[in-house]
Amino acid sequence: MGETLRATLDDTLGPTLAELDKAALRRRLRPLDSGIGPRVTVDGRSVIQLCSNDYLGLSSHPLVKEATTNAVSNYGSGAGSARLIVGTSLPHVQLEARLATFKRTEAAVVLPSGYQANVGILQALTGPGDVIFSDELNHASIIDGCRLSRAAVEVYRHRDVNHLGTLLSVNAGARRRLIITETVFAMDGDLAPLNEIVAVAKRYNASIAVDEAHATGVFGATGAGLVEKYELWDSIDVQIGTLSKAVGALGGFIAGSQAVIDTVINSARTFIFTTGLPPMVAAAAQAAIQIIVDEPTRRTKLWRNASFLQEHLVAAGYTITETASPILPVLVGDSATSISLSETLLKNGVLVPAIRPPTVPPGTARLRVTPMATHTKSDLTTAVKVFTDAKQQLETR
Ligand SMILES: *Cc1c(COP(=O)(O)O)cnc(C)c1O
Repeated sequence: MGETLRATLDDTLGPTLAELDKAALRRRLRPLDSGIGPRVTVDGRSVIQLCSNDYLGLSSHPLVKEATTNAVSNYGSGAGSARLIVGTSLPHVQLEARLATFKRTEAAVVLPSGYQANVGILQALTGPGDVIFSDELNHASIIDGCRLSRAAVEVYRHRDVNHLGTLLSVNAGARRRLIITETVFAMDGDLAPLNEIVAVAKRYNASIAVDEAHATGVFGATGAGLVEKYELWDSIDVQIGTLSKAVGALGGFIAGSQAVIDTVINSARTFIFTTGLPPMVAAAAQAAIQIIVDEPTRRTKLWRNASFLQEHLVAAGYTITETASPILPVLVGDSATSISLSETLLKNGVLVPAIRPPTVPPGTARLRVTPMATHTKSDLTTAVKVFTDAKQQLETR
């Protein structure tokens, strides 16, 4: 019986997978033989890696490793239960206090991933009778949070504050109005017009939540993000972020008033019904945040590496879409071409996978190039040469 059922299920899945293949949209996993770093080992070969979110190289920083190892000795591998049962330990409490200081809020709470932080905050703060205003390019986790909240959702055109204002004015009767935006857009590297969003939110008495996934560690004098860079602590109600990108570990966080954090703890399903982050990961994240604050030169190096790459890739004839961050979207357009470019690069020692729909809109397949602070000038010069040759190959095909 089981046999028959499995064959039937596979039969129904096969055509869909074949369609993905045909449209050059099938995705596959590529295991590394090494940890993450400026170079990684793929199929036994060392290649230059230009696609991680470990922007500052903190996942392998000696102080982070030491903090993690110590925490493993003291707390073992897992939290043991959900945070509200017996799954809260000293590293969680310390990390949450550190995050509140870092983000200059009354309080903060950590969830097992940034994905869960976005889904959780939207579901905890809004429901039927409320309206969420969401940028059209917001991350999938924000879209899923909108759905789970059961609030009405108004999607405004990308970074279009006039459109946002119009939608706010026609929803003036809603119980609660919450604007949510990424501050640095993950796939485009452009920035939300935060000052303008704050102004329009004040006019219509709306609250603001921002997702600083790609800004934390990268923007601001202490690396706290775009809210810090623009000094908007008093105007932004909720700062969401992840411990999985520049912080180099895993986890998500929400920082805000004590009332916001207590509401999350009491009603966010993605916080309540899931096991707490392993204490060792909380310890790793806390050590990494300390380094983000203490070593601003890492940020300087990241930005310098990004400018170098941007300048030379444009000189080689590539189109990089408007970016204002170290995320460099090399626009290709067609999915099949983006894959063949990516394969040519890998063959010659540079790893940057193609980003295709549905992660990005149809017709905008790209290579999302992200350097690390720890890439050397020689790594980048080699990468530029490989990109330049690949461009010529692509054109003479
Ligand atoms: C990666 C990402 C997330 C999810 O964070 P994880 O910690 O990886 O789950 C949320 N928002 C944005 C904008 C992201 O890029």
